[in-house]
Amino acid sequence: MGGKMIVNQFQPFVGKDEYEAIKSCFDINWITEGPKSEEFTEKLLNLMGAKYGVFAPNGTLALYMGLKALDIGPGDEVIVPNCTFIGSANAVEMCGATPVLVDIDKHDLQIDIKKCEALLSKKTKAIMPVHLFGLSVDLSAVTTFANKNNLKVIEDAAQAIGVTWNNKHCGTFGDVGCFSFFADKTITTGEGGFVVTNDEKIYNKLRFLRNQGRINRGSFIHPEIGYNFRMTDIQAAIGLVQLSKLDNIIKRKLNILSAYREQLSDIRGIKIIEPDIYYSKSNHIPFRVVLMCDKPSAGLMNHFDKNNIETRTVFYPLHKQPCFKKLGKEMNWVDDEFSNSIYAYEHGICLPSYVALKEEQIKYVCSKVKEYYEKVQS
Ligand SMILES: *Cc1c(COP(=O)(O)O)cnc(C)c1O
Repeated sequence: MGGKMIVNQFQPFVGKDEYEAIKSCFDINWITEGPKSEEFTEKLLNLMGAKYGVFAPNGTLALYMGLKALDIGPGDEVIVPNCTFIGSANAVEMCGATPVLVDIDKHDLQIDIKKCEALLSKKTKAIMPVHLFGLSVDLSAVTTFANKNNLKVIEDAAQAIGVTWNNKHCGTFGDVGCFSFFADKTITTGEGGFVVTNDEKIYNKLRFLRNQGRINRGSFIHPEIGYNFRMTDIQAAIGLVQLSKLDNIIKRKLNILSAYREQLSDIRGIKIIEPDIYYSKSNHIPFRVVLMCDKPSAGLMNHFDKNNIETRTVFYPLHKQPCFKKLGKEMNWVDDEFSNSIYAYEHGICLPSYVALKEEQIKYVCSKVKEYYEKVQS
């Protein structure tokens, strides 16, 4: 690499094993959903401790299918955290329902359940907790709230493979749980998604929905209206290899987290977002290591940028999204109600945390944080 260090925000972790797995699909000449998909489904369900699961083309469509299977549609409202990837809210919009935004908790950046009660209306049908940055939402609080108010629960667990609450896998607490296998998620199939449920009725709805309103291919009789939300065995083959590496991926991610923690521990005015030791029953598998700065993070990000370190902000608050301008007027979204998501956006930084990241790259990133706080800023 010569003298110049470059640290990307992300690099996919795929190689020869995944490549060989793709070839194996060609060897048996089966490329659409088939034996690999079946095996991948079984292994995922085993890992998660869920009864039923179906693939989706991506995480956004997994959420869409989950919502549809719960009969969420026009006239319905779904509570969604204001700090999340836009796909969470857009899946609700895609169903014709309305996302009702709620602020996040300042300490762990997860949905603030305490603030949900005030948002309830006759139209509220469901809540979509989003497990952000490799931490679990307080699922005990979500379950209590949902039961009390007769709401469906769609867990957005796109960033939460391997993440648990009280030792139970995220995505298995709600009516449905939705995962993504996009390139930067903990395991990947390039694009891909997965919906899990423990309810046989919901499972059957998902099967009709994803396969043109019938259970099996090969027939042109369609009892229900459905679409095509299938994946391919080529992707499942990649997924199977990735899943076999999951333990090592998690180990490496935790090593990266502790390296950052150690090397940044003596710098004042910053902290890493971690589960709250006093009440959280979540483990932590950092999707990204998120740094929260006492002062706005723009200066530090600029310093990273100058030194070829690619960082990201925390998600842009949904209530400010240009695409939701019209909805925001109708819903009367005002900054005052979302102070924690605004704070997280202005003060947070996602540090590079991908599996192939090298020790010297972590050292380099940390040295630039130090440099910024010791020299540049003062
Ligand atoms: C990635 C992601 C999604 C969407 O998944 P895609 O596979 O990119 O469609 C939804 N929600 C969250 C929280 C995500 O991180």
